[in-house]
Amino acid sequence: MPLTMQEQITNPLHSARAQLRAAVEVLGYDEGTYESLASSRRELVVRVPLRHDDGHVSVFTGYRVQHNISRGPGKGGVRFSPFVDLEEVRALAMWMTWKCALVDIPYGGAKGGVTIDPRAHSVGELERVTRRYTSEISDFIGPHRDIPAPDIGTDERTMAWMMDTYSVNHGYTVLGVVTGKPLAIGGSQGRASATSLGVARIAIAALTHLGLNPDKATAALQGFGKVGRDAAVFLHEAGLTITGISDQYGAICNPAGIDPIALGEHVDATGTVVGYSHADPIGAEELLELPVDLLVPAAVESVITRDNAGRIRARIVVEGANGPTTPEADDILREADVLVVPDVLANAGGVVVSYLEWVQANQAMWWSRAEVEQRMTERLLATWQTVVHEAHTTGRTLREVATLIAVSRVVDAHRIRGLYP
Ligand code: NAD
Repeated sequence: MPLTMQEQITNPLHSARAQLRAAVEVLGYDEGTYESLASSRRELVVRVPLRHDDGHVSVFTGYRVQHNISRGPGKGGVRFSPFVDLEEVRALAMWMTWKCALVDIPYGGAKGGVTIDPRAHSVGELERVTRRYTSEISDFIGPHRDIPAPDIGTDERTMAWMMDTYSVNHGYTVLGVVTGKPLAIGGSQGRASATSLGVARIAIAALTHLGLNPDKATAALQGFGKVGRDAAVFLHEAGLTITGISDQYGAICNPAGIDPIALGEHVDATGTVVGYSHADPIGAEELLELPVDLLVPAAVESVITRDNAGRIRARIVVEGANGPTTPEADDILREADVLVVPDVLANAGGVVVSYLEWVQANQAMWWSRAEVEQRMTERLLATWQTVVHEAHTTGRTLREVATLIAVSRVVDAHRIRGLYP
């Protein structure tokens, strides 16, 4: 069924394809190149039956999509959310291709997920879903084929179950099959907070680029999960005043500043930022529209749209989430002179350290946290410099430049490899 206009506006695949289309036109590639990159290389849809704790059985749907594997194995997270569908997974897989190419790590792009609300299930049920899903996609993944990682609704425990299921079925331990694992079973120092650290480093580079002093800057973050929570801590440590934070249950604001460590303790106790006593409740939409220097959407895609982009008052948007800004919103933010640091750059710290985890696991040799964070920061800031320089000389946005660099690298790989047969 064709998408309605409203669905197109917020459909992540629509956004991803629009960004690709623009890049292909600038680069002068033919329609065949667009078509081969606009669709996924491989898509797997699986049914995941679960025996609940009370004995009854229900069936969930799972996905694994490999958008492109020309530069190396597929790489991308596994999302457990009631909103996961094939279109979303396709878009997220495509963005992974560009992200890995932009930061120049030898991976293609992939993504997976199960349409399930993890908060509605016991640990035992989540383990059984994870193991069955892994088993269903196990011919599709592997350390040289496609390497999953955590995303929304999954974490290092999920990765431990995935690694174990894959390994048991292969008869030996395969550390390199997933990243974002616990340290005790081949995880990397610094992986858990790598995405957040990268977001914070890029945010500080962006503030400095605009002549803003991080010590005097204010910030709001949407999402207080694996990315948003540590990003808030790193930004707070860098001197920023965090005036607003939200999660899926609501948003809070305090112009005098929110201490993310204290808020984290409240979230650990209650499961949500709502009800935190040192801030006032505000509307979820209001959070995005706070008068701050820095806005970090770190939750889900398509939250800054043409409907609310005109009301964004931040000077800088650093995309912790994947795909939070639609192309229509991008145009509005550009007109308003808001600097948008795209997801493929802003949140790439996670995949860079995933790559480092995979390298370490494959070599069975481990680096210190300082070494890991230094390698990641160098890679990220070098990419930032390249993208900013190119944007300055061409007048393009950071997203346009980042996408152009990434798409051209993937197309180069296609050309050099040739078309089989
Ligand atoms: P998570 O599940 O740990 O946390 C998600 C957070 O967003 C939670 O606080 C949740 O309550 C909140 N949230 C969900 N829907 C919301 C809504 N509509 N409004 C406000 N808040 C909402 O997930 P995560 O790993 O932190 O991922 C967040 C984003 O970052 C996703 O877009 C993900 O793809 C992207 N990302 C994650 C990583 C990683 O390493 N985890 C790496 C790169 C990009």
